[in-house]
Amino acid sequence: MRKGTGEVLELFNGRDGEWLARVVQAGKRAGVLLCERQSKEMMLPQDLWLMFAPIKKSRTDFIVEKATEMGAAQIMPIQTDFTNADRIRQDRLQNHVVEAAEQCGGTYVPQVMELQKLSNCLNGWDDRQIMFCDETRVGQAVAFSQQRGPWAILIGPEGGFSPLERKRLDAMPQAHGVSLGPRILRADTAVVAALALWQNTLGDWQ
Ligand code: SAH
Repeated sequence: MRKGTGEVLELFNGRDGEWLARVVQAGKRAGVLLCERQSKEMMLPQDLWLMFAPIKKSRTDFIVEKATEMGAAQIMPIQTDFTNADRIRQDRLQNHVVEAAEQCGGTYVPQVMELQKLSNCLNGWDDRQIMFCDETRVGQAVAFSQQRGPWAILIGPEGGFSPLERKRLDAMPQAHGVSLGPRILRADTAVVAALALWQNTLGDWQ
């Protein structure tokens, strides 16, 4: 960050809030910072997971960035029946998340999980509620369960969900099929819309 001795910067580690720190030693490869005082309390996100099917690289970057800004606690790339991607660069996405957290003054860094199959993920699913964003409900009322507690938002790929996936989700009492309005949104837009809807209904926008 090109800071020299005596200069001040803000630090956060995802546990202790944000701290003002002074550079006491600055080398090319290492340095020493002295935490002087806490500048922000730790702000933990709601217990909300974002599950999404990875799409093109730049759009996936956008999704993890916006999920961080919008307060997801955990980011889970999911392989669905119609997902093209069969691998992700988890480390690259995690770096992106760190940058997004810095950018928006967050004190928490959500974890980006490894890519996993939707079916595996749903096997043995506990009582976490699922906001299942289902494009076939386009134009239906935008309403969903107001149950409190842990939640996950699930967004499908460009090809949408397969009939089998929809059948499986519809049979789960934890899953709540939700419309995001009268237009079909691109997956990256749907992520932001769903997070806003959830935060406004059950999360920290209230
Ligand atoms: N190919 C599909 C659209 C997929 S959009 C089609 O044409 O029908 C990608 C994902 O965004 C969907 O799987 C869904 O999770 C979400 N999505 C987009 N628009 C939506 C809407 N109006 N209501 C609910 N979910 C939506």
